[in-house]
Order: sequence, then C-alpha cells, then structure tokens
Amino acid sequence: MGEWRGAGIGAGIAIGPVVRLEQSAAPTPTDTLSTLGAEAEAERVVVALGSVAALLRRRAVHADRVVRGVLEAQALMVEDPALRDAIQLRLDDGVTAEAAIAGAFGAFAELLVAAGGYVAERATDLRDLADRAVGALQGLPSEAIVDPGVPYVLVARDLAPADTAVLDLDRVLAFVTSEGGPTSHSAILARQRGIVAVVGATGVAAVADGTELLVDALHGRVVADPDPAERAEAELRLAVQASALATPAAPGALADGTRIALLANIGSPSEVGDAARLGAEGVGLLRTEFLFLDAAEPPTVDAQLASYRAVLDAFPGMPVVVRLLDAGADKPLAFLPAGEELNPALGRRGLRALRAEEGVLRDQLAALAAAGAGSAAELWVMAPMVTTVEEARFVVQAAHDAGIPNAGVVIEVPSAALIADRMLRHVDFASIGTNDLTQYTLAADRSLGGLSALQDPWHPAVLRLVAEVGAAGIAQGTQVGVCGEAAADPLLAIVFAGLGITSLSMAPAALAGVRAALARCTREQAESIAAAALAAEEADEARRAASAVARARFIG
Ligand code: PEP
Ligand code: MG
Repeated sequence: MGEWRGAGIGAGIAIGPVVRLEQSAAPTPTDTLSTLGAEAEAERVVVALGSVAALLRRRAVHADRVVRGVLEAQALMVEDPALRDAIQLRLDDGVTAEAAIAGAFGAFAELLVAAGGYVAERATDLRDLADRAVGALQGLPSEAIVDPGVPYVLVARDLAPADTAVLDLDRVLAFVTSEGGPTSHSAILARQRGIVAVVGATGVAAVADGTELLVDALHGRVVADPDPAERAEAELRLAVQASALATPAAPGALADGTRIALLANIGSPSEVGDAARLGAEGVGLLRTEFLFLDAAEPPTVDAQLASYRAVLDAFPGMPVVVRLLDAGADKPLAFLPAGEELNPALGRRGLRALRAEEGVLRDQLAALAAAGAGSAAELWVMAPMVTTVEEARFVVQAAHDAGIPNAGVVIEVPSAALIADRMLRHVDFASIGTNDLTQYTLAADRSLGGLSALQDPWHPAVLRLVAEVGAAGIAQGTQVGVCGEAAADPLLAIVFAGLGITSLSMAPAALAGVRAALARCTREQAESIAAAALAAEEADEARRAASAVARARFIG
C-alpha cells in the first residue's frame, strides 16, 4: 500500500484502476551540433512546429469551449515570431533543430517562471509544446493516452491542454499528477468539470498501470491498494456523494431550518452558467483578476462594466459579491509591478497595491457602481488583504462614495481576524478567505506544494480565527461568509456553520455535497462538531474529532 500527498482539488473521492499517461516522449537532445547545416535544420523546425500547431488545432475542434480557447492560443504560441527568431539565432550558431527548439522554448519558459504565480504555471505548457516538437522531429507518436474502455484514474506528470482535449472526461474518475500546483491546467479543468483531483503528489508517477488507486481530494491523499477499512470509509463517502448529486438544488439550510446561503466562486463571466445550473444562490466571490491578467494597461471603465454586468445579470434578485482587484504575490500583474520584493505574499499586494495606484481602484469602483445601478442583482463589493481597521474604513468609505451601498472586507490576514470585533464595526459584511488565512496563520506559502501538509484549514489555529470572526458577526448582527476553498469541504462547512458563519461560497461543483451535508444536522449539532474540532491540537486530529462526533450522533 503506497501513499502520496498533494493538493486536493474540491472535496470528492474516487477509486479505480490506474491508467498512466506516457510522457517519456522527447529525450533532451544530446547531439547538439548539426551535420545538416542551418538551412536544412530551419526546414525541419518549420515542419515540426507546423505539425504541433496542426495537432493542437485538430484537438481544438473536438474540445469544449474553454479547452478550445487554450489550444488555439497555444497554436499561436508555437507560431510566435519572437520564438521563431530565438530558434533561428540558435540555428545560426550551428546547432540541430532539436537543440534550437529545446533551448528557445526553455528560455521563454524560464521568463514565465521568473514572473511567478499564475504566469509561472504556464511554463509547464510551454515545455510540453517543446517536448511535442522535439518528439515530432524524432518521429515519436503524439497520441499517448490508451483508453482502457472502463472508468479509470488518470496518473500523469502533469496534464497539458493538448492531452486533456482528447480525453473522454466521462470515463475519467480522477486525475492525479506528480507535478503542477492548484493553478495548473489539470487543477483548473478538474475544478471546472467537478472531477476529483490531487495535484503535485510527488512520486505518484511511478505507480503501475492497473493498480487500484483511492484518490481523496478532500484530504489531498492518494492511496494504492487501500485496505478494507480505508475502502469502507471511502465507499460511505461515495454513497453520500452520489445521494448529494441526486438531491434537487434547494437553498442551503441546516436540518432545523437555519439558513446558510450557498454561493459560487467565479473566476470569469464564462463560469456563471455552471453556477446557476448547480443551484448557487448568488456569487460569493467574483475574482476580478481575469480582466487584468494579460493586460499591459488597466482595462477601461466601459470594458470592466460590460464584464461585471454579464455576471450580475445572471443572478437577478440575488447577491453578487465582487472582490476588488487582488494583484501581487500569486497573482502578479504586468501594469501593477510591486518592484523587487523578497516576500511578495507579505508585500504590496491586494488593497495595498490598489492604494498605491488609486486611479485603478477608483475606476474599478466606478465601473462596479455603474454595473450595479443598472442591474436586478444585489451588488456587494469587498476588498482583499485588509490588515488594519484604517484600511477597512478607507475602502468601505471609497465604495460608499462611489455609490455602492454594500461594502465589506475579505478577512484573510490574522490581524484582521484577531480584532474582528473592531473591524466589523466599520463594514457592511465580511467574508473569510481561508486560503490566505491558512497561509498566513501557518506561515506556509500556499504556492509551495512541498508545504501542503501545513496548508490545512482544519488547523485549530485557523478554526479559532474563524470562530473569532463568526462570534463578532453574531454579536453585531453582521453577515460573515467563507469564500476560501475550505468552504467546499462538507464536514468543514458544518464546522463553519457551528462557528456562526452565515454563507459559504465555493466552486459550483462542490455545492451539492455541501448542501447535502448541512441538511443532515441542526445548528446545535453543528456547534458540537465545531467544538470538537476547535479543541484538537493538530489539523488531522480536528478532522478526525469532527468526523467522529458527526458519525456517532447524526451523520453516519
Ligand atoms: C482566499 O484567500 O481564501 C481567497 C478566497 O482568495 P484567493 O484564493 O483568490 O486569494
Ligand atoms: Mg486571498
């Protein structure tokens, strides 16, 4: 029985036989000096890159809309003139087509890695394209996935868009990758399609084809040949998962009728369809970075307005909570450079970056106010990375001045949680960002796969901070939601309800599981589950204690 740990995507569980994606392709070119001459090598480059671009476009035809866009962008990347120039320069030095392609793509990939965050994850895509081009030069086959004809767990180093485009996703029970983080293409696709996944599980690529693999996204664990006890627990969760999917999408509530609004986390207007279909009662977190990510200049007020309106219009009569631009650290933006910082996560990010470029903040507020004024949805706006009461007062005032009546803060820095009683006096609402709150409480960089064991929102220190904010919310009658990934964990959702949280926002695919879990216990029961978790010394112990109370009394 082997066991690996990585970052779990969502809260699901799956068991099935392994199919490995063969990615041994393209050996690094060793014979770098050309015997053919630069001109002949240049022709080989054209043929190889042309065949990769054609393969990407062929796969794009059958892919869904999101993957199609990525594949088309990649085909353009392969044909990028700057890359061609970089390859030609190397050919002029007398190297082979293989070496020139590997060298030029590698240099571009390093630039992406240096940019950090989301951008760095795209370096894997570029390296995949280089491997495919070198593979084409060496006559290696490009279709690597063998469909076994039964549902399976796909194990790979990392999945490139060109790989996933040819998969029959209905047959894939889970993805497990040994590389890549929570913002890799594999993770994004898993979130969008509600596929169970664990990414960055170092060492898992060695598992043999056909091995029975248990993939537990909730706990970021992968187990080969699970023992009978492990299997029984997994089967119970599979049954709950299946019944959750079969339950109609009603508004979120505990068994005694206490309302817990179930909202969607959305990264762009293209995701509203899934959220509405899966019964979201509004949007609890619209991440607005999509508007700014690839821009050299901030988008105009009009361009922003159109995007905000597209989301608001999908939720008439419902709340749509928009987070102001959260630039910096894991979300670097070209036009808001933070400068050289040794610790970007502790640097000029979130509201700090917006205050340094107040024009960007004012434009975003103006666009949001205009979108909200003309919409049937309820617009709420919140600021990321708020650390002090002065910051909370500043941003709430700025939003009110712009004509937005509902203005709040994301509580994701321990200082804000620790004085939540004072912070909440100045805001219309708050939402706890458990991803960052966990990173800052445990002092463990959320982008480092190697520290994933520490990045656990079940840690009682994180739970105590959530309790602090929940209690302040109850005392002052202020709504406090949770919008980090932790809200997607059904058992943790019960704990949050027991700590006074009034709404939970998550990837739409997780809504059904959380809805079903909440419906199984009363407020009082949720409080006793929360108390058991809070009393623990470690994250694992908190999880086990909550699970034992839940199973013994009402859930199992
Ligand atoms: C969080 O930090 O929990 C959060 C919701 O925001 P993000 O993951 O975008 O930083
Ligand atoms: Mg955050």
